[in-house]
Amino acid sequence: MDIGRNIEEIRSSLPNNVRLVAVSKTKPNEEIMQAYRVGHRIFGENKVQDLCKKYEELPKDIEWHFIGHPQNNKVKYIAPFIALIHGVDSLKLLKTINKEGVKNKRVIKVLLQFHIAQESTKFGLSPGEADEILSSEAVRQLQHVTIVGVMGMATYTNDENQIRNEFRVLKNIFNSLKNRYFSDSESFTEISMGMSGDYPIAVEEGSTMIRVGSKIFGARNY
Ligand SMILES: *Cc1c(COP(=O)(O)O)cnc(C)c1O
Repeated sequence: MDIGRNIEEIRSSLPNNVRLVAVSKTKPNEEIMQAYRVGHRIFGENKVQDLCKKYEELPKDIEWHFIGHPQNNKVKYIAPFIALIHGVDSLKLLKTINKEGVKNKRVIKVLLQFHIAQESTKFGLSPGEADEILSSEAVRQLQHVTIVGVMGMATYTNDENQIRNEFRVLKNIFNSLKNRYFSDSESFTEISMGMSGDYPIAVEEGSTMIRVGSKIFGARNY
């Protein structure tokens, strides 16, 4: 794997408004540094413990994204430095992140995760559940968390039409939330969709942030 070259190839294929999150979960610091040395700064992890270790050991100008849904009792460990939490799927988690934001004197950015795939194993809100959260009085009190967009994962399938349709569903959810709850907000702008197997389709369907792991770093050994 030429990690630097993989990063450069993917980046050169992306429109200017689409950012690449290099998903470095399970990968050692040395491989992350290969990406760093070609100028890459945005990395994604989905385990709090691994992320904190890498944050300590690696250069401080890295922008770390949490790409899953952290457990409530672990949010405190990432709250001091996390740039974006992609997988928020409950009011309870929003409240926890807000509380840790207060403690750290930070406003923490998050994305709401939606369930767009057919697989029931994948996490995420339904549009109705999101409405319940966003129309609540409780959410308006959260001054130390900012919802900057949406995130979703398509079904793991070779059926490109199905994947495309699922990404369209997420884009429509984004538009409808923007109209109903965020029309005054400058910061509600992000659609995090697309992984190694499907990011070209996601970009065509309006992604602003792709999360790519194996296509950069090679297959993961768990
Ligand atoms: C692991 C992971 C990715 C990256 O997956 P690849 O198929 O290796 O690109 C993207 N998003 C989430 C939420 C992940 O957990």
